[in-house]
Amino acid sequence: MYDVVIVGAGPAGSTAAIVARRLGLKALVVDRFKPPREKPCGGGLTPRTWKMLERMGVEYPWYDECGEVRVKVADIRYSTGESP
Ligand SMILES: Cc1cc2nc3c(=O)[nH]c(=O)nc-3n(C[C@H](O)[C@H](O)[C@H](O)COP(=O)(O)OP(=O)(O)OC[C@H]3O[C@@H](n4cnc5c(N)ncnc54)[C@H](O)[C@@H]3O)c2cc1C
Repeated sequence: MYDVVIVGAGPAGSTAAIVARRLGLKALVVDRFKPPREKPCGGGLTPRTWKMLERMGVEYPWYDECGEVRVKVADIRYSTGESP
């Protein structure tokens, strides 16, 4: 028997599973796909996410620091720094 069933093994579901375990709950995580899942991802972590992972004790490979982020989707352009 499980105390909680978590549907989805993405970041949200995995985080919920870690929190449930720390609360002493027996959790079952189910996903429609078998891991490892294939997903396009920039692999970037915001400072807020990084701090949260540290607080949770989750180790994540650190490659380099990014000083500026530019997003260009259709007509939408966003940059955290100076536009070229
Ligand atoms: C192209 C792209 C690049 C990205 N790059 C970054 C990045 O660099 N950095 C970053 O922080 N974020 C990035 N993101 C955003 C990040 O992927 C999402 O914020 C994050 O995956 C959301 O996590 P989640 O657990 O809420 O959902 P998901 O990651 O979508 O996980 C949901 C899970 O639930 C499962 N599921 C869904 N429905 C069912 C069902 N009915 N039954 C069983 N299982 C089910 C799915 O298979 C999936 O595994 C990117 C997103 C995209 C699309």
